[in-house]
Amino acid sequence: MSEPSQGNRPNSVPPIVAGPGLSSGVSNAVPVEPERSHLLDMSSEGLTDWLVERGWPKFRSAQIQRWIYQRRAKRFEDMTDLPKDLRKQLDTHFDLFRTTLVAHQQAGDGTEKLLLQLADGGRIECVLLRDGPRRSICVSSQVGCAMGCVFCASGLDGVERNLTRGEILEQMLKLQHLLEVDERLSHIVMMGMGEPLANLPRVLDALSVAKDPDLGLGISPRRITISTVGLPPAIDKLAASDAPYHLAISLHAPNDPLRNRLVPVNKSIGIRAIIEAADRYFAKTKRRLTFEYVLLGDLNDSPACAQELVQLLRHRTAMLNVIPYNPVPGLPYQTPSSTAVHQFRKILLDGGINVMFRQRKGDEIQAACGQLRRLREREPQIVSIGNSSVTGAN
Ligand code: SAH
Repeated sequence: MSEPSQGNRPNSVPPIVAGPGLSSGVSNAVPVEPERSHLLDMSSEGLTDWLVERGWPKFRSAQIQRWIYQRRAKRFEDMTDLPKDLRKQLDTHFDLFRTTLVAHQQAGDGTEKLLLQLADGGRIECVLLRDGPRRSICVSSQVGCAMGCVFCASGLDGVERNLTRGEILEQMLKLQHLLEVDERLSHIVMMGMGEPLANLPRVLDALSVAKDPDLGLGISPRRITISTVGLPPAIDKLAASDAPYHLAISLHAPNDPLRNRLVPVNKSIGIRAIIEAADRYFAKTKRRLTFEYVLLGDLNDSPACAQELVQLLRHRTAMLNVIPYNPVPGLPYQTPSSTAVHQFRKILLDGGINVMFRQRKGDEIQAACGQLRRLREREPQIVSIGNSSVTGAN
């Protein structure tokens, strides 16, 4: 599934590859392509070939990758046990990191969010969440999103392009750099901006590095969640891939008329096809499924919706994750009342559904998809707000 390595052509412009995106307009091309290559875009084999072609021994490839993914090197010059000459060559041919920091926000609950600017000016968000011993990161897969969920900030302006393997990995590494030396990344959720299954080859490439215990981040695939709006053919492709990633499906409604309103892409898919694909994923991987349900006040939080959900999920080995809506400025949707949440919860529990009501984290730093980017998109210049602690509502 991976693209051909560019390892033996470090100075050439990478090929423009047709995209797997859902809508035909989604591009994988990075419009501004400097002469240097993004090292994180290169496969392990590609890096080895590049080194061998220049007369360096193969083992240098593993050494470099461990510096990047395990020893948290920020520059080639940090890789102190590599020959100086090699560090210089790497520096001449490659960018290790390509994004610039636009904003770094920290919430009182330990959540940190980065707004990163890509080489072509596109902006993406990623988040670090601290929860007991867990260090989870939430990563974006696209610039914008084409799915059009009416309550979500990420897709308000559509999708610009798919992220590359390197851009997905760079988010993971930049978040890892925020950790103290004694902290380790433990979980990854592909729940940032974009639809990961509309950029599946690159997401899988990046995750194969994330799960690699030898040269990569060493995070077990069981601790890696791919969240999707529900694209059945891509769910089947994911099931056929080699790793049993955890699959989360954003349901948000128990019937098609309501889901068509909230998640417009549903009109051409339908809940039934999604549930069937989810069942096939479960049959293949034996991984318990998660369904996500954003609770929107007076829209999908009625007792009738809860009862329909019970009918839909009661015979499945699945977990239902209910998340209260995190309001997006300018959108007319509301957080549900506590009475509605209480009722909703009781019906699901009484119906025997394995349900979790998730606490919101990071509200004060606009941690829901696409919120920070939206807030800052009209800023003309790049400003780093460093480690400033943002206090505010909630
Ligand atoms: N495209 C993927 C990833 C999206 S983000 C998907 O649809 O699953 C992960 C989750 O956050 C999705 O369930 C999404 O619907 C939800 N979400 C988006 N905006 C939200 C908001 N303002 N408040 C709460 N959840 C939100």
